[in-house]
Amino acid sequence: MDKCSFCGRDKRDTNLLIAGISGHICDNCVEQAYEIVQEETKKKAPFDINAIKLIKPKEIKKFLDSYVIGQEDAKKTISVAVYNHYKRLMQSTRRDQSDEVEIEKSNIILVGETGTGKTLLARTIAKLLHVPFTIVDATVLTEAGYVGEDIESILTRLLQVADYNTEAAEKGIVFIDEIDKIARKGDNPSITRDVSGEGVQQGLLKLLEGSVVNVPPQGGRKHPDQKMIPVDTRNILFICGGAFEGIERKIAQRLNTKVVGYNASRQTDRIERENLMQYISPQDLRAFGMIPEIIGRLPVLSYLHPLDRKTLRTILTEPKNSIIKQYTKLFEMDDVKLTIEEEALNYIVDKAVEFKLGARGLRSICEAIMIDVMFEQPSSGESEVVITPQLAKSKIEKINLHRLKAA
Ligand code: ADP
Repeated sequence: MDKCSFCGRDKRDTNLLIAGISGHICDNCVEQAYEIVQEETKKKAPFDINAIKLIKPKEIKKFLDSYVIGQEDAKKTISVAVYNHYKRLMQSTRRDQSDEVEIEKSNIILVGETGTGKTLLARTIAKLLHVPFTIVDATVLTEAGYVGEDIESILTRLLQVADYNTEAAEKGIVFIDEIDKIARKGDNPSITRDVSGEGVQQGLLKLLEGSVVNVPPQGGRKHPDQKMIPVDTRNILFICGGAFEGIERKIAQRLNTKVVGYNASRQTDRIERENLMQYISPQDLRAFGMIPEIIGRLPVLSYLHPLDRKTLRTILTEPKNSIIKQYTKLFEMDDVKLTIEEEALNYIVDKAVEFKLGARGLRSICEAIMIDVMFEQPSSGESEVVITPQLAKSKIEKINLHRLKAA
């Protein structure tokens, strides 16, 4: 009697036995084989590091320019860091043994007020590179054994966006937001160990420097019988962002002590307060409460400027997917022409400045102005909508300003 050459079942024990040149296969084994094929192709696709072409820093910057307004220094620094990161990836995949110079990873740290474009920069880079990208918030992280999320959960998120394709996740980008919130409280490192801050920094170190980490596939707390996925973080690019509120004082202090004896007061006076940021150095991060080991693992340090009126105005209309372009598109889909008068745009910027919401405020202010229009218009049948400054003003004055401020 014919048998399945894979599982050995007799023909009568199968629903179907398919004959090949020198063997047979039963329906059961066909199904299993199909599943294996599916699994394996999923694991390999769609990520192929060899398919990535090296994009030069100037091209990267040009791409960033179409989404991120201003922030020239940060864009330049990131463009170079990403270019080098990719060279490094190529080296690690194609490296021949004789190559003795191993390029080290350059994780990035961005310092700047909220709403100045830190996340946007990281997000835009990921868009350009087509690699798995995730944003995590450092404030939810705690040391193992405490209430909160384990450090490893950062990688769970990356695995999830990579559809559990470990190889892809291992070349992804992680943006860790609010990194300043895990700074050690107080300047003096010898005061009692600070669990929430320093412990988390120690934990993060492991990820940043590159090691194989066991990641719980579903996130949350690790428990003993959960199957872990080993993830190598050597080639993951970490971009950290934080407001580091008050770091200007540390910078000022440092600059001050440096120039003592060289006509100190006049020199420091010249350095305007707002411009202190451009002098930021790793020492200031240390003075803020980041441990030296972490700073060492974030060698690329850049800063973002607070956004001024002119930049905010540009952000409203110029980026590729600017807020105004998005509204225009929404109306266009109903064959309606949307016009926002220049004075109305200026009014929106005024309010964003007044509420100190940075670019983040632009969206909530626009939304407050547009909500009624977007509610009424589709039923009205009009083919044109004009937002005048008077209309904008009346909408903003009507709503609860506190709510907007809190947004
Ligand atoms: P951060 O991470 O610094 O707190 P985000 O990058 O999340 O700020 O910025 C919030 C929003 O503000 C972004 O989604 C973007 O629409 C807008 N925005 C902020 N900065 C810029 C900028 N420099 N250029 C263009 N848009 C910006």
